[in-house]
Amino acid sequence: MVNSNSISIARQRIRESRRLAVITGAGVSAESGIPTFRGPGGLWRNFRAEELATPEAFKRDPKLVWEWYDWRRGICKQAQPNPGHLSLAKIETTATEFLLITQNVDGLHKRAGSKRIAEIHGNIWRARCTLCGNEFDLEETPLLEIPPRCKCKGIARPDIVWFGETYDQDLLEDILDFLSGTDTLITVGTSGMVPMPVYLTRHAMSHGAFAIDLNPDESELSGIVNLSLRGKAGEILPNLTEI
Ligand code: NAD
Ligand code: ZN
Repeated sequence: MVNSNSISIARQRIRESRRLAVITGAGVSAESGIPTFRGPGGLWRNFRAEELATPEAFKRDPKLVWEWYDWRRGICKQAQPNPGHLSLAKIETTATEFLLITQNVDGLHKRAGSKRIAEIHGNIWRARCTLCGNEFDLEETPLLEIPPRCKCKGIARPDIVWFGETYDQDLLEDILDFLSGTDTLITVGTSGMVPMPVYLTRHAMSHGAFAIDLNPDESELSGIVNLSLRGKAGEILPNLTEI
């Protein structure tokens, strides 16, 4: 459990940081009712996320993949930002320099009021044409047409970075650059099963950042960071922002 000493160390670090970065994973949205991939509720029609969030699955059966996304979009639409998301938006207003790096595609950080967000895995409310590459907003849910199509009539895909796909290199460069001068990095609700958060955390720490991890369970990050806080994002983050 989190003791008050750990909380006050974390608060002090946040307060004294000129540059602050946060990395979030699915755990930050769990209290909003959005299932994590690997936690309870992550299964859909007996499929695992790893079987659907891939370019191969989309090639094989775009309708099936879109039906899964339509189910997830419906959950995201119903969901409301929780105190964890709101606290991160609040931290941003007091920090001199701030960047929120999220693996989440649900759009809840934006709805909570966060401004500087790097969505490294894309966004579930956007689509991209497989024919002409056009990217466009796709807000209706349930979808009127599955698979949805672009103006050019090409089949669109979710604008999401799938398993086996590469990250946007320009975005990644900007993030690494920011993390090179970050005083404090907070990771929240990420298992580290996808290697990027661990890589980014190591990068920031090797450039002098103090790293704090927040997760109710042990994660790949707990053993790496300077301070590991055990608890739920919606319960602990509000404590960190009360200055
Ligand atoms: P993940 O690897 O980010 O793991 C989720 C982590 O959240 C776990 O370590 C779990 O212990 C922790 N957690 C659970 N409840 C929490 C809480 N209340 N507060 C803080 N932490 C909590 O996520 P994943 O589910 O294994 O998925 C892997 C990839 O898919 C990631 O990119 C993830 O962000 C993405 N994904 C996104 C969404 C979304 O947009 N909401 C949902 C599912 C998966
Ligand atoms: Zn097109």
